[in-house]
Amino acid sequence: MSEVIKALEAIVGQEDVVLETSVRAQKAVDLYALRLYQKHVGWEATLPQAVVRPKDTDEVSKVLQLCNERGVPVIPYGGGSGVLAGAETRDERTVVIDLARINRLINVDEISLQVTCGAGMLIRDLEAIVQERGFKLGHYPQSMDLAQMGGLVATRSTGQFSTGYGAIEDFLVGLEAVLADGTVVRINNVPRRATGPDLRHLFLGSEGAFAVITEVTVKMFPIPETTWKHAYRVKTMRQGLEIIRLVMKTGIKPAVVRLHDWLECEKPYGAFMEENESLLLFWSEGRKEIAEAEGAIIDEIAKANGAVSAGEKPLDLWYVHRNDAADEYEKYGANGILVDTLEVAADWNVIADIYEKTVERVYYEVPEVVFFSGHSSHSYINGTNIYFQLGAFPPPDVDEAQRVYEAVWGIVVEVALEHGGSMGHHHGVGKHRVRWMEKEHGSSYALMESLKRVFDPNGIMNPGSLIEL
Ligand SMILES: Cc1cc2nc3c(=O)[nH]c(=O)nc-3n(C[C@H](O)[C@H](O)[C@H](O)COP(=O)(O)OP(=O)(O)OC[C@H]3O[C@@H](n4cnc5c(N)ncnc54)[C@H](O)[C@@H]3O)c2cc1C
Repeated sequence: MSEVIKALEAIVGQEDVVLETSVRAQKAVDLYALRLYQKHVGWEATLPQAVVRPKDTDEVSKVLQLCNERGVPVIPYGGGSGVLAGAETRDERTVVIDLARINRLINVDEISLQVTCGAGMLIRDLEAIVQERGFKLGHYPQSMDLAQMGGLVATRSTGQFSTGYGAIEDFLVGLEAVLADGTVVRINNVPRRATGPDLRHLFLGSEGAFAVITEVTVKMFPIPETTWKHAYRVKTMRQGLEIIRLVMKTGIKPAVVRLHDWLECEKPYGAFMEENESLLLFWSEGRKEIAEAEGAIIDEIAKANGAVSAGEKPLDLWYVHRNDAADEYEKYGANGILVDTLEVAADWNVIADIYEKTVERVYYEVPEVVFFSGHSSHSYINGTNIYFQLGAFPPPDVDEAQRVYEAVWGIVVEVALEHGGSMGHHHGVGKHRVRWMEKEHGSSYALMESLKRVFDPNGIMNPGSLIEL
């Protein structure tokens, strides 16, 4: 047994240094779409040397201190639902730090509406806890059943109700994290402070490359009194995007604002639409008078701009089936289909061009693609995202799958960046988007490099993720 394993056992106990191949294999990968296909055509994972399961912050600190001194790479592992290889092991010396045991409920503050828990708590479980008390988190990623609170912070996630409630950076009020050398740092909860740069943002999106997050405090909200919901048909995505822009310009914030192209609508909502149309979905919630007033504004803008009512039913269908894809996600690869989701963001003045150009180029340039659709699902006063969904049949071979995958990704990133957008709206960087980080950040990229050097001088924190030095 290696010296490192013995030292890890002395910290967390023998039973929580897991060496079994099946567990190491499970924690060697996440839900990186390329691997979900490639593993069925011969790709084999690199296994970490061990998976450690610390029970508290102190044990995380000691594990990091040990690995930092010995130059052993570490990967914090949350729910494993990341889709960009952020938690994928690429070096067999790696020690995976599994956060699942650090999942204690620490405090529910029903006066200031915030809840504190261990970073390893599943968001699904935290939502159930606050719901029992008459509250909701307001953060609903499609991976609700899989993702942990720490993972959501580490990837700068967002959820389906984000247009109203905001994304994780709007919810997170405080945290505890352990730095590479074992130092524990806390950012205390306050509504706001103007005492220098906001240090929470050093951890939001840090993807295990700067620190291990061990505790989070997030906002919660009263369960809404009522819901107003309505769907509208539009002729084109461009028309639908313009209607969303006009709605957002009024300053109202409906909880859900979505626009799906025909490819995404045909099966679930086709009965409510004419062929080749797109569908707008709006959902407001809260106090009855506010939700209804928002509804009236949306209705007026939609109809004045050529949208046709499609009733409430599509919203009911969306709500019931909104997380179905999470159950199916891993199955496609086994059936020879390369499936992925690629999300970009940009200002209103270019977003329709990005959607149209990307779809056109992907179909024209990558013949293996059989399905390439898009929707907008997170809107702001200054712009929105487009979430592309890919289905392709590459030849059943590791390299061929990579070729097709790279071709599609190359187009999506190129079009987004050439229009001044971002290549990533909410899935993070992982080990997949690293190659484009310099282009994405331009002259501020040097700051990212400096941060990595400060946080992780020995280069042990999730090497190859977020940034490669
Ligand atoms: C079907 C499906 C639907 C999805 N829907 C959404 C969605 O709606 N919105 C969205 O934003 N994302 C979505 N995702 C992506 C994914 O769920 C998120 O990125 C999520 O935040 C990952 O959390 P996790 O706990 O599973 O993290 P992991 O996958 O375990 O890790 C992700 C990254 O964060 C790091 N990390 C994890 N925990 C910690 C920690 N405690 N401290 C430091 N670093 C840590 C890891 O090292 C890794 O780099 C979806 C994924 C799938 C498969």
